[in-house]
Formats: sequence, structure tokens, C-alpha cells
Amino acid sequence: MNISVCKNARTLPFASGMLKGRSAVVTGSTSGIGLGIAEVLAMHGADLMLNGLGDCAEIERVRQSLAESYGVLVSYSAADMLKPAEIDGMIEQATRDLGGVDILVNNAGIQHTAPVRGFPVERWGAIIAINLSAAFYATRAVLPHMESRGWGRIINIASAHGLVASVHESACVAAKHGLIGLTKVVALETATTGITCNAICPGWVLTHRVQKQIDDIAAREALSIAAAAQELLGYKQPSLEFVTPGQIGALAVFLCSDAAAQIRGAALPVDGGWTAQ
Ligand code: NAD
Repeated sequence: MNISVCKNARTLPFASGMLKGRSAVVTGSTSGIGLGIAEVLAMHGADLMLNGLGDCAEIERVRQSLAESYGVLVSYSAADMLKPAEIDGMIEQATRDLGGVDILVNNAGIQHTAPVRGFPVERWGAIIAINLSAAFYATRAVLPHMESRGWGRIINIASAHGLVASVHESACVAAKHGLIGLTKVVALETATTGITCNAICPGWVLTHRVQKQIDDIAAREALSIAAAAQELLGYKQPSLEFVTPGQIGALAVFLCSDAAAQIRGAALPVDGGWTAQ
């Protein structure tokens, strides 16, 4: 497994010490969108707890690289998002290692595509557990810490599939619609406090899982990888460009700013026009 720190984060137009003194837990941050978000938060000064699966040596290399590049504390929890007790343990560890949790990004997610009548029951359970229930357990665990500090940001990484559906995506669409529902309830329950809760809804981002879909199209239709990528984008994403992890990270940083203090319970698409159709 080769994990590289998100290159495009460094080329984004703004960087600040805005999050200095804040600490963030980003679930599923050993690759893809989560790693991109973690890097942009660190770039703006936040201390981090990484989480996710992967090769221990690679994860340690990424942890050290983020800490050295941005001069922030970076810790790691191997908590399995299928296991509520491990999620509680991750928040306890973050409190010990980083001195508290100001920002929680619920990003970990898995996917499986199949028609409903043939959808494997075990995959359904795992997708609902990781993509939806884990966000509930982590939110439940951080709220007392955020309430005692009078400030917090909970950012749920949903999907265009939290707003609209596609065939063969029953578990992911159900989990992401559920995650947006959870986002609204948490936003209402914290509405008079300094804690906000919002969802970001990405369209296609070129991570491992999307690369696999492109490879499948290329093999099935005897296309080049570039042509298969354009075909995939053409199904749904009018911009015909992938969203980048850095762009999702930049929106997460904005949601952590004072300017975003009254954005509460929103589901914000970053999808190249997917859900405008
Ligand atoms: P990815 O596969 O690159 O990363 C998923 C992360 O979750 C990894 O760090 C992985 O280790 C972690 N993870 C998986 N199972 C876990 C478990 N049981 N416990 C702890 N960590 C676990 O995926 P990605 O494309 O970066 O997706 C990240 C999030 O963004 C997901 O919630 C996904 O649904 C959402 N999303 C992705 C896209 C896209 O186009 N890539 C689009 C919309 C939404």
C-alpha cells in the first residue's frame, strides 16, 4: 500500500494559522479524501488524530510527514469504525494525546454496488455501520467535550448520494441520506451553542475506489484509462472534472471559521454540478 500526503493541498490559495490551538479527529484519514482533509486542517495549524486501516509503517511515515511539514501534533488511532467501543476509545485517546477534540470529521466509508435483490447482507451491514453508525458513536462521544469548551465543529462527509440516488447503490445511498438526517438533528440539538454540525456532499473524487470503477470501465469497453475516466464523469458530473481532496479540505476549513458559525445542519454539495441536474 502506498500512501502519499495529498499534493494538491499545498497549492490551494490560502493558508493560515486559523486552527492553531484546535485539535481535529478525522476518521478514515489514512487515504483518499480523509487524508486530504487532514492535510488541509494541519496546513491551517490544527493538531490531528489520524484514523484508518493500512500498513503500519506507511501510516507512521504519513504521521511523521504531516507533523514535520506543518509543525503540528499528529497522533494515530487504529480504531475500527465497525466497533462502537473502539470509537469511544479513539475519542478518549484524542483527548489524552491532543488535550481535547474541537473538530470531528466523520469521513470513514466503504462501498459496494449490486442490485438490491442480490445485495450481500453482510456488505449492507458493514456499510451502514461504517458510513452511518460510526458517525453517531463518534458524535455522541465528542459532544460532552465540545459542550464543556463551548465550541466545536462536526463535519460529516456524506456524498451526492446523500441527496440523490443511483441504481445498485442501495446501502451507500441509504447510509448517506441517513448521515444527512443525523447532521440535521445534531445541528438542531446544538443550535444555541458554539458547536455546529454540517455535511459535505462530494461528487466523484479520484481515490482508490473511483480508480477501480474507471479500470473496470476501461477493461469492459476496451477504452484507455483517460477515456474511461471521461465516460464515468459523463454519467453524472457535468463539469467533467474530478473534485479533489484538497477542495473538500478547504470547505472543511471554511466550516471551522467564524464566518461559518451560522451554517448549521446544511448538506453542501461539492460535485461539479451533479445534483444541480
Ligand atoms: P478511501 O477508500 O480512499 O478511504 C476510506 C478511508 O476509510 C480509509 O482511510 C480507510 O482505511 C478507512 N476505513 C475503511 N474502513 C474502516 C474501518 N472499518 N475502520 C476505520 N477506518 C476505515 O475512500 P474515499 O474515496 O476517500 O472516501 C472517503 C469518504 O468520502 C467516504 O465516506 C465516501 O463514502 C465519501 N465519498 C467519496 C467519494 C469519491 O468519489 N471518492 C464521493 C462521495 C463521497
